[in-house]
Amino acid sequence: EVPYKVAVVGSGNWGTTIAKVVAENCKENPQLFQERVDMWVFEEKIDGVPLTKIINTKHQNVKYLPNIDLPENLVANPDLIETTKDADIIVFNVPHQFLGRLTHQMKGHIKPTARAISCLKGFEVGAKGVQLLSDYITEELGIECGALSGANLAPEVAKEHWSETTVAYHIPKDFRGEGKDVDHRVLKKLFHRPYFHVNVIDDVAGISIAGALKNIVALACGFVTGLGWGSNAAAAIQRVGLGEIIKFGRMFFPESKVETYYQESAGVADLITTCSGGRNVRVATEMAKTGKSAEQVEKEILNGQSAQGLITCKEVHQWLEACGHIDDFPLFEAVYQITYNGVPMEKLPSMIEELGLEE
Ligand code: NAD
Ligand code: 13P
Repeated sequence: EVPYKVAVVGSGNWGTTIAKVVAENCKENPQLFQERVDMWVFEEKIDGVPLTKIINTKHQNVKYLPNIDLPENLVANPDLIETTKDADIIVFNVPHQFLGRLTHQMKGHIKPTARAISCLKGFEVGAKGVQLLSDYITEELGIECGALSGANLAPEVAKEHWSETTVAYHIPKDFRGEGKDVDHRVLKKLFHRPYFHVNVIDDVAGISIAGALKNIVALACGFVTGLGWGSNAAAAIQRVGLGEIIKFGRMFFPESKVETYYQESAGVADLITTCSGGRNVRVATEMAKTGKSAEQVEKEILNGQSAQGLITCKEVHQWLEACGHIDDFPLFEAVYQITYNGVPMEKLPSMIEELGLEE
C-alpha cells in the first residue's frame, strides 16, 4: 500500500498547532503516512519577509503560534492547489469566513478519492439554511468529510500540555476497505499524540454543533466576567448555554446524539475551557471593560486571529429569524443584540429570564 499523503489547509493559531500534531504522526508512522506534510499558508510579509519563508527556515510560525518549534517535515506552502492536489487526507483549519473561497479554488483540482477532516468551529448559513461545515466541504468538493473538535485551546496543545479531543467520521458508502481507505483507525493514528488523546466516534453533527455554538456562549461569559459579576454568573451562563446548544442540535440536526454533548471532549468540556480562557471570552471581557466594539477589540487584542463567536452569533440570529425560532434561544439572541445592536450587557439576566418565563 502507498502511504497516505496528508495536507493541512490553514496556518493560524489552531491550524499551525494541528499541522504540528499531524506532521509528528506522519514522521513516526512511515508505513501509513508520507513523511512530508504540506501546510497551506495565506501568504503575508512579516518585516518584509514572506511568512512561508520564515516557517520553512526558522520552523516557527512567528505570527500565529510564536515560540513553538515545528517539525521539519512540515512544509509551509503559499500555493493552495499545489498543497492539496495529491493529498489523500485534507485537514481543513481556517476561520470559517475564508472557507468558501478556498473550496471554490480547490474544486476540480483534488483527488476524487481524497477524504477530509474539518477542524473549524462554525456553520455555513445561506440559502440552504444552516449547514455543518463538513457537509459544506462534502457538497463543494464531492469528498467525504469528518470533523475534529474538542476542549483544545491551541496554545496549550502547542506546548504539549495534555488534553483530549473528539474526531467524528462517517465511513462513506464507497469505502474501499481496511488499509485502502480512511477509517477510524487511520484517523486515530493521524491525530492521537501522548499529549493529545483522541476518541473517534460517528456523530459529526453533534461535535460540530457543540464546537460552533460554544463560541456564542463564551461571548456571554466574557460579558458577565468583564462586568465583574464573578464565578456564579459565569456558571449560570454556561448552564443556560449548554441547554440552548442541546436544544439547537435536537431541533435542527436530529441525527446528533445528546450523549455527545455530555460525554465528549467536544461537548461540555469544550464549553468549560473556552469560557475559562479562549479568545471569545477575552474579546467579550474587554468589550465589557472598555465599552469598545467587538470589531475594534478583536483587532486590538488578537493580532490577526479571529473570535469566531462574533460571526457565528450573527449567522445563528439570521437563521433563527428566518425560521421563526428566535424566542427559543434567548441567550444566543441576547449575545447577538449586545454585540451588534448596542443592547446593554447588564440586561443579559433579564433577557434570559423574561423570555424563559414566557414559555
Ligand atoms: P486564527 O484565528 O489564528 O486566524 C488567523 C488565520 O487566518 C491565519 O492563518 C491567517 O493567515 C488567516 N487569514 C487571514 N486572512 C485570510 C484570508 N483572507 N484568507 C484566508 N486566510 C486568511 O485561526 P485558527 O485559530 O487556526 O482557527 C481556525 C479554526 O479553528 C476556527 O474555526 C477556530 O474556531 C477553530 N479553533 C481554534 C482554536 C484555537 O485555540 N485557536 C481551537 C480549536 C478550534
Ligand atoms: P477560542 O476561539 O475562543 O479561543 O476557543 C478555542 C477553542 O475552540 C477551544 O477548544
